[in-house]
Amino acid sequence: MKAAQCTRCGEEWPEGDPALRVACPSCQAPSGRQCQRPSGHGCGVHAARDSLAVDVGLLRPCTALTWDGRHAKPPPLPPQPAPPRLARTAAAPAQGALL
Ligand SMILES: [Zn+2]
Ligand SMILES: [Zn+2]
Repeated sequence: MKAAQCTRCGEEWPEGDPALRVACPSCQAPSGRQCQRPSGHGCGVHAARDSLAVDVGLLRPCTALTWDGRHAKPPPLPPQPAPPRLARTAAAPAQGALL
């Protein structure tokens, strides 16, 4: 598992995001697995999973000024190949076509 770091308070988890060590109450992702439907808000795990990890003592609430006490953990980038570039339009309008 890759190391994770909070972009707000700078706390680092060399073993990876501690929230991933508990099962997610929101999407039922088992421990060690990413959330199945990561929210699109810059964090790869559900809020309920973060708070559960805090409850069981795996994670401390973020010490930076946040409205919800959650760490800002950038989601891991999925291994995706670069999207293929769209080929230029084959049927380019003929130049000088007069009406
Ligand atoms: Zn989840
Ligand atoms: Zn933090």
